[in-house]
Amino acid sequence: MNTLPRADLRDFPGYRSARSDALAGDIWLNANEAAVANHADADGGVRRYPSPQPAALRAALAALYGVVPARLLLGRGSDEMIDLLVRAFCAPGGDAVLVTPPVFGMYAVCARLHGTCVVEVPLRDAHEDFRVDPEAVEEAARRAGAKLVFLCSPGNPAGGALRGDAVLALARALAGTALVVVDEAYVEFADVPSLAAQAGVQSNLVVLRTLSKAHALAGARIGCAIAGEEVIDVLRRCQAPYPLPAPCVGLALRALSPAALVRTRALVAATRVERERLRRELARLPDVRRVHPSQANFLLVRFDDAEAALRRLLAAGVVVRDVRAQPQLGDALRITVGTAGDNDRVLVALAAGEGVP
Ligand SMILES: *Cc1c(COP(=O)(O)O)cnc(C)c1O
Repeated sequence: MNTLPRADLRDFPGYRSARSDALAGDIWLNANEAAVANHADADGGVRRYPSPQPAALRAALAALYGVVPARLLLGRGSDEMIDLLVRAFCAPGGDAVLVTPPVFGMYAVCARLHGTCVVEVPLRDAHEDFRVDPEAVEEAARRAGAKLVFLCSPGNPAGGALRGDAVLALARALAGTALVVVDEAYVEFADVPSLAAQAGVQSNLVVLRTLSKAHALAGARIGCAIAGEEVIDVLRRCQAPYPLPAPCVGLALRALSPAALVRTRALVAATRVERERLRRELARLPDVRRVHPSQANFLLVRFDDAEAALRRLLAAGVVVRDVRAQPQLGDALRITVGTAGDNDRVLVALAAGEGVP
């Protein structure tokens, strides 16, 4: 592990914010904060800089994911974690990351911004059930000297989930060579369990989790990396001083209360039921070539004429994701599972155009 982070950051302490010192006192004059709260800030909750890693939220997420708090770094969505991983582990203008397209775009975006090479190992079996080829990933990662291997499970937009034993075997094979990062943004919707508990136990395995999808808090921007303590420490030193706005932390804590979690679990279960209904009904439409199986809260759908389907949906006021520019997806749209009513609108809009040239 010690050889993985950027050599030039080994002694880098990061920014020492006014909150990083364990100081005590009842008059705080060390951070140039305003003396009196803003009128708009009724309870004075944002007059001061927030904690860099709010302990209560860290503990709540650690409990939710079944890990110790020391293995978890909170940030501004998992997007920030992807960026931090690239910046902490790849030399600027050098090194490489590996991705498995078609896949979430942020891995390659962060790498490109950093001048880091992006090695692609496409998913196999595009017209069956997309799957990662672990041997091809291992070989390409070695050949390119990739520092990070990004796996998305369940995959966005492909929808399939990776087998935990295959990920662990890959991580073991690449130990000392690369970090294997499993982005589990949608794992709450999947049949497979999260790998969070293995992250850091297998020292080069990192798991990313987020409150944006299953917990319905995309606007609060809260996600985390779960990894061994050495990796967490490196990432923390590279992170912005106060990544989490205090109102968002409060909101997240309320969303993680036992009652809120019961409701979230029920909504996730309902989404899974709707996903399977939508999948069955879409598959019946003559214009639909294939609906890929999905472990997430969206469906990847291939059409005889995706352009016409997109236009029909837009005409009905339904906005879906056009993924046709992605490799192997020239005929596909990605449709998020909505409420039963939303999904009915999708089905009605698509059925309405059937047979119309
Ligand atoms: C939506 C999504 C994210 C973004 O998560 P944030 O926590 O909102 O930054 C990360 N990874 C994948 C695969 C996603 O689809």
